[in-house]
Amino acid sequence: MNTPRCGMVDHHIAPLEDTKWNKTDLTYYYYSYTPDMPRSDLERLTKRAFQYWSDETPLTFTEIKSGDIVIAFGSRAHRDDRKKCVYHFHGKGTTLAHAFLPPDGRLHFNEDELFTDRSTSGINYLWVATHEMGHVLGLEHDTKNKDAVMYPYYKAYVPNMKLHANDVYRIQKQYGKSTGGGSNTKPPKTVPPTHPVTKPTQAGCFDQSVNCDDFKQRCNGDQKWINFMKTNCKKTCNFC
Ligand SMILES: [Zn+2]
Ligand SMILES: [Zn+2]
Repeated sequence: MNTPRCGMVDHHIAPLEDTKWNKTDLTYYYYSYTPDMPRSDLERLTKRAFQYWSDETPLTFTEIKSGDIVIAFGSRAHRDDRKKCVYHFHGKGTTLAHAFLPPDGRLHFNEDELFTDRSTSGINYLWVATHEMGHVLGLEHDTKNKDAVMYPYYKAYVPNMKLHANDVYRIQKQYGKSTGGGSNTKPPKTVPPTHPVTKPTQAGCFDQSVNCDDFKQRCNGDQKWINFMKTNCKKTCNFC
């Protein structure tokens, strides 16, 4: 059985560095909404998702007509007001959402899922939104800490969701600590201070390419991506 997950690729062997916006006052807007819940609920939960990150950093998020971050819902081939997305969704139960690292700011939810609030049925919107905003803010997946918000796989709904110490550590590493009294944390012991870069071997070649066609399109012109795939992915590097 496939576990529903985020569509961003996991970089196990040579994780790409986390990145950041070069400003802390960010704006956002909706390109489309979901019929899964009233608009007011969606807006409240989106604000709450942003708040997880702004509580720990100097970041601020303001909704305006057109801004840094666009939120869109779509099925299969989808788009936002900026362009068509090259990463298609593949129906229900696979990829829940995906987002693009700074300074892109696009955040797409898979409308074939049922997004819910405080329910064990459907997919918890708050968790997915908080996770994807982590990407929008520059964080890669955390494949080591299962309780991290940046862990790539969806888990069942838990009330009173919190950021993991490693989520907080990583976002503060990019933007600094909140001046308004967020929880100031030291790096958790399980976290190495920098990303280990392991030289890939034949045996270590990592390939969990469920979305090969999507990868193929990205090979077109994204040099950072091409370099990464050439180093780490036997199957994908054939067409990169
Ligand atoms: Zn993700
Ligand atoms: Zn997309």
